Amino acid sequence: MHASWFVVFFFVTWSLATGYLPDTLPDLPAPRYWGMGSVAAILLFLSVLLHELGHSYVALRYKIPIKQITLFIFGGMAHMGKEPPSPRAEFLIAMAGPVVSLILGAVCLGGTMVVEALFAQPQAQGLIVLGRLLGMVNVQLGLFNLIPGFPLDGGRVLRAGLWARNKDFTRATSQAALMGIGFGIALGLIGAVLIVGAWADFLGQSIATNGVWLIFIGAFLFSAALASKRQVAPRMLLTSVTVREVMVQRVVTLPPDMTVQDAVDHYFIAQGYGEFPVCEEGQVLGVVTVRDVHALPTTLWPWRRLREIMKPTSTDFCIPPDRSIMQAMDLMAQSGVDCLVAMENGEIVGLITRSAIAQYVQLHNA
Ligand SMILES: [Zn+2]
Repeated sequence: MHASWFVVFFFVTWSLATGYLPDTLPDLPAPRYWGMGSVAAILLFLSVLLHELGHSYVALRYKIPIKQITLFIFGGMAHMGKEPPSPRAEFLIAMAGPVVSLILGAVCLGGTMVVEALFAQPQAQGLIVLGRLLGMVNVQLGLFNLIPGFPLDGGRVLRAGLWARNKDFTRATSQAALMGIGFGIALGLIGAVLIVGAWADFLGQSIATNGVWLIFIGAFLFSAALASKRQVAPRMLLTSVTVREVMVQRVVTLPPDMTVQDAVDHYFIAQGYGEFPVCEEGQVLGVVTVRDVHALPTTLWPWRRLREIMKPTSTDFCIPPDRSIMQAMDLMAQSGVDCLVAMENGEIVGLITRSAIAQYVQLHNA
């Protein structure tokens, strides 16, 4: 429980005990209102906790560690140890919270209706008021969190959709965060309109409190979304630059039957490059790098052919030149290589290496 939680806990108890409860259940002694108010506040935060446990349960099923769940002034937050592995996982984890809230809301409202029908006597009135309040708050909690602005749950659903469509997690985060910034501003503006309306006596005075609350929530969403957008900015550079812009555009290829010694003498040393594609009759068979040569004892260099030491080509070795260098780096990490062959229409158009990307980023930052 964050320190700010105690503030909001007191605020919720106070506003229920002095506003909502006396309005809906008149003529009770003040301590009853405070007692009911604090019970309701505890149940409300239990609802928030169950919402977060919904996210956590699904996240754990995807083997994402949950470090902690924080209850703070704007509700709750489950801290996930890593990003979801797929758009599907992201979607299900994000939906789990609002689904829990909406089910809780339906159960509370339905239960309240049953109690209302069975026990018409006034003794059950307190229970009915609490049940209705809890039901409405849970429905609101579920619906509010479905607003499609990152980092709200709805924004995560949006990110999952964009991620699935464009296969680009970073760009999807940036776009969903932009929506979060927009909704943050919109909530703030709606809050301001409510306050002005209450001032000018168009709206009830109690609406002004909601306005202040909306401005706070809007500001919170705005700053959280802005932080998420800033966080992915360096990765966005990598996603906006294509392989074509960074690749080495020479197409010197080596035949597979060349000896390692010849390759070292006439190509690696003579041309000063660290890797060459190995080709035969226009087909890329693989890539041979300085590292592959190093792995072989010098005495064997005149006797071994490139075919024997090269990394054979597979589809996860080639990349179309219009892909981003972020995708190239992801592919390199996946297949454990330091360079990729840029292929277009079945032809080699260049080579892209990890060091070339590093150099590009360094130059760009400079
Ligand atoms: Zn949530």
